[in-house]
Formats: sequence, structure tokens, C-alpha cells
Amino acid sequence: MVLKIQPEIPFTFKPGQYCTIGINGFERPYSIVSSPHEDTIELCLELVNDGELTPYLWGLKEGDFVSIRPRAKGVFTLDDNYKNYFMIVTVTGIAPIISMVRNYLYNNRNSHKFYILHGASYKSELIYSHELESLARERDDVFYIPSVSRPNEKNNNGWLGEKGRVNVIFEKYIRKFSLTPSNTLIYACGHPKMIKDVKSRVHHKGYSVKEEKYWRG
Ligand SMILES: Cc1cc2nc3c(=O)[nH]c(=O)nc-3n(C[C@H](O)[C@H](O)[C@H](O)COP(=O)(O)OP(=O)(O)OC[C@H]3O[C@@H](n4cnc5c(N)ncnc54)[C@H](O)[C@@H]3O)c2cc1C
Repeated sequence: MVLKIQPEIPFTFKPGQYCTIGINGFERPYSIVSSPHEDTIELCLELVNDGELTPYLWGLKEGDFVSIRPRAKGVFTLDDNYKNYFMIVTVTGIAPIISMVRNYLYNNRNSHKFYILHGASYKSELIYSHELESLARERDDVFYIPSVSRPNEKNNNGWLGEKGRVNVIFEKYIRKFSLTPSNTLIYACGHPKMIKDVKSRVHHKGYSVKEEKYWRG
């Protein structure tokens, strides 16, 4: 679900940071999807059926209020020292990446390259894939590779894209695009086990990894 929030007071953030919102006494952090130049704070949320907050968020109607802590937080932001950003994300882990890419385009930059590997069980969970597919078609500095990990299930009928868990297939793309530890920063966001596995596969090769874990695992 995409949630758009209109803050009552000015709210500043860097692309890649998260905000903390709440209702009914429960608060949780959410990466911001929108770029700082946009009018609303856009979030994308996955429903956790037995979760404390998300079922309440699913009950929200247009015009309802949520609380938002006054300061954005986090260091999952772009590092200009690297020419290439190799981004490995699961489902809503795409959120901070969209903010970074939108902001980069808004500022008319073309100094870096984004390689975005987006994984989910089902194609319907690949939120923002249309935005990224269309950017990847138009530009030579955005590469988008969506992948489903359950290609043989009915919900993925007709899927012609990449298959497999992103933590298992990403090294193939590092080789394909000739990305080296000195010119590439790896970003990993979302599922904690995906992040752990990515780190274990590349650390000894000298790559730096920036991570944003969405829950403990
Ligand atoms: C920095 C940061 C940014 C985040 N950004 C996002 C975001 O952009 N979009 C988003 O949907 N979530 C995001 N999260 C997760 C979010 O903060 C909540 O944890 C999530 O929405 C569940 O909240 P809840 O209160 O409904 O469930 P809880 O009661 O907090 O959790 C119930 C259980 O589900 C597990 N869990 C939490 N999230 C998931 C999940 N997605 N899939 C499977 N199990 C889960 C928890 O570990 C816990 O065991 C982020 C977390 C962090 C730390």
C-alpha cells in the first residue's frame, strides 16, 4: 500500500532516510519513498497480518491523522565517493532507493549509475516496478532487474523476468556489469536474512555494503 502524508509542519529529510509514524499508541519507522522536493511524504507499506501497527494503517481513510516524529533519521543515503550503486532490495525495501533515484533525476545529475535488483516472492509485490522499468528504458544510468523467487507458482503466471532470490543471483550481475569494490557501493535493504547473506558473500571480496534491515532476523 502507498500512504501519502501531508505534514502540518515542515519536515526535512535526505533521500534514503526514514520517518517514524504512529497511531493508537504504536509507532514504527518507514523509509521515505518521495524525494524531498515533493509536496507529500510518500511511504510504501507491507501488511503484517499479526503486526501491531500495520493493520491499523490499513484501516486509514483519506484525511485521517497519523503522528510523525519531527526528525527523519538514518544513514542509508547516497555516498558520492562511488561511481556505481548496486542496490539489492526485497519488496518494500525499494522505498529508499526510489527516493534517491527521484532526487537524483530532479537535480539533473548523470554522474553515477544505479543498478537495482528488486526481489519478491510474487510479481505483484514488485512495487514501483513500472516507474523503474520506464526509467531503465529511457536512461543509460538506471538498470532495473526485478526477480521473483517462486516463478512456478500460479500468481507468477506469465513472468518472463529474472528468477531466484536476489541474494543468490546478485553476484552474476556484479560480474556482468564489471562492478569492482573500488568503484561500487552495495546497498541492501529489506529482509534481514537477505542482507546477512549478501554481506557474507561479498565482504571478503572487499566490497562495502550499506544496509537497512526492516526487522530483526
Ligand atoms: C529503518 C526501517 C525502515 C522500514 N521501512 C519500511 C517500509 O518502507 N515499508 C514497510 O512495510 N516496512 C518498513 N519497515 C518495517 C516497519 O517498521 C514495521 O516493522 C512493519 O511495518 C511491521 O509493523 P507492525 O507493527 O505491523 O508489526 P510488528 O508487530 O512490529 O511485527 C510483527 C512481526 O513481524 C515481523 N515483521 C516486520 N515487518 C515484516 C515484514 N515486512 N515481513 C515479514 N515480517 C515482518 C517482525 O519482526 C515481528 O516479528 C522498516 C523498518 C525499519 C527498521
